[in-house]
Amino acid sequence: MLNVVIFGPPGAGKGTQSEKLIEKYGFVHISTGDMFRAHIKNQTPLGKKVIEYTDNGLLVPDSITIDMLQEEVNNNPQAKGFLFDGFPRTVPQAEALDALMEKNGSAIHAVVALEVTEEEVRGRIRKRREVSQRADDEDEKVNKRIDEYFNKTIHVLPFYEQQGRLERVNGIGDIDEIFENICKALA
Ligand code: ADP
Repeated sequence: MLNVVIFGPPGAGKGTQSEKLIEKYGFVHISTGDMFRAHIKNQTPLGKKVIEYTDNGLLVPDSITIDMLQEEVNNNPQAKGFLFDGFPRTVPQAEALDALMEKNGSAIHAVVALEVTEEEVRGRIRKRREVSQRADDEDEKVNKRIDEYFNKTIHVLPFYEQQGRLERVNGIGDIDEIFENICKALA
């Protein structure tokens, strides 16, 4: 069983690379951003609680996010491996994920960090906005999401690095080449 986290700022290419990784490794994909968007679309009680955060580019509180993620992992006992996308975004989330995996007799084996400059992600999101349906792709909200990444989420990197689980991969360039480099890092 291989469990991987794909990590990077908004616009780093996590979604694109996740699709390729799922196809190759058969991961069960858990994207907290997708889960929140589905809850909002379906107007569930959870969706109503989180919309004030997601719509403004702010992180949803850890307690809500961690509970939702734990439930999703526990709903997939047959999984051969998980790909976590957009989670963990804080150190408490990273600690909760380790505890959860350990409880299930498993672990997070690698965290693939897609390295992209702030300038590049701003440019990519600006482009994506032209075709995006996402409420959080507006200018001011994008700025907030990028700030949240550089203020809070980036601290997750040293957490994994100190434990030798961090794999840095250049996220700028050809999509297939980036994918190959991720696969090499996981080999
Ligand atoms: P991005 O394109 O910014 O990587 P995502 O699709 O992963 O965005 O997430 C969209 C929004 O959902 C975030 O801006 C945040 O409000 C919320 N969210 C997603 N994952 C988490 C998380 N692990 N912790 C807190 N909030 C989260």
